[in-house]
Amino acid sequence: MPEFFNVKPPRCALEGLLSRLKIDTRSELVPTTEALGRVTTGDIISSEQLPAFPRSSMDGYSVRAKDTFGATESLPAYLEVSGEVLMGASPEVRVRPGYAAIAYTGGLLGEGADAVVMIEHTNRVNDKTVEIVRPVAPGENVIQQGEDIGTRDTVLKKGHQIRPQDIGALMALGITEIAVAARPRVAIVSTGDELVSPEMTPSPGQIRDINTYTIAAAVTQAGGVPVPIGLVQDDYDAQREAALTGLTNSDILVFSAGSSVSSRDMTAQVLDAIGKPGILTHGIAHKPGKPTVIALIDNKPAFGLPGNPVSAFVVFGILVRPTIHSLMGYKMPLRSSTVVARLSRNVSSMTGREDHVPVNLYEQDDVLIAEPVFGKSNLIYTLVRSEGVVVVPLDSGGLYSGDEVTVTLY
Ligand code: AMP
Ligand code: MG
Repeated sequence: MPEFFNVKPPRCALEGLLSRLKIDTRSELVPTTEALGRVTTGDIISSEQLPAFPRSSMDGYSVRAKDTFGATESLPAYLEVSGEVLMGASPEVRVRPGYAAIAYTGGLLGEGADAVVMIEHTNRVNDKTVEIVRPVAPGENVIQQGEDIGTRDTVLKKGHQIRPQDIGALMALGITEIAVAARPRVAIVSTGDELVSPEMTPSPGQIRDINTYTIAAAVTQAGGVPVPIGLVQDDYDAQREAALTGLTNSDILVFSAGSSVSSRDMTAQVLDAIGKPGILTHGIAHKPGKPTVIALIDNKPAFGLPGNPVSAFVVFGILVRPTIHSLMGYKMPLRSSTVVARLSRNVSSMTGREDHVPVNLYEQDDVLIAEPVFGKSNLIYTLVRSEGVVVVPLDSGGLYSGDEVTVTLY
């Protein structure tokens, strides 16, 4: 029986690929409003300061702080009201010694004022006069010019993934267009004589294609553009043709199925034959997903994912997603979304192999419980019915019921 030689731990296998890859991130300009999830290709520098003018952070009166020193409930300071600074207007009101001007949150102070007294610490005696019952220090209740961001400050670093708050912050500076990494194009080839398109009714022995669609959606979620090439028979020439087509228009090539070592499995042969250096890794120390192929074809990463839909999805997550991110110049944070839970049952593993165990989460007496969803690795619904995975590390022989585990959420 043919066997895998040199099975590599997944992290090693990925590093082996990324270290040989010459990354040349393509950049494109997009409207900031459409940049959610995209990755910056350079530092973004502010050309203005925010706030552009000192702003009041409270409703109240702008004053000269000195005029309020010593003010108390029993011995208030009395100031003359010189007017009101309207929102969105520049101050035409002067605050000379002994004067105060009505101020609103976010608005300017009266000219000459250096602090704001909260409205709660004042009493309006009459039209002309306001009573101040607490002192303020210079700068109190004022957001200083440039306090939020200064001129020539770095707004966002290169390799940053744009979030909603970043979009608002860029708009505040009038940056309505930014340079981001072009979305890597990922060609997807599904192989297997048994596969039919989902709109067909399978004859006995046939199954509907799952992987094209799971992988395409995962590519989109990772920030890439899926380019489905279609279904291809277990035929060397047909697969070679599909691989070449895929590579012409894409940055990454993903083959589904046929990645093992039987006589019907051709992925490795095909990916090794069409460019240099060819195969880097065949077989990873991971369950599910041992029969995985990693190749580099004329500086384009190519993957042979196992046909099992669960394996294909899991291996996509550990190898293809980080590769897409690398091409965009984005380093995934080491920690993705996780929760800590207690395992509800024992999970066995083998040392020297990393296991991904799908789990469900529920609460019991205020404790979060992770319930393993067992099932053979070709059951796609084990993924649908689970909320995340627990990783059993390479050097562990398994986990016990009651162990505290970290669940990585999908
Ligand atoms: P293979 O990797 O070719 O040995 O396939 C392993 C298993 O995955 C077989 O049961 C295949 O029928 C199944 N499989 C392969 N490709 C797909 C696909 N695109 N969608 C759903 N199941 C698949
Ligand atoms: Mg097959």
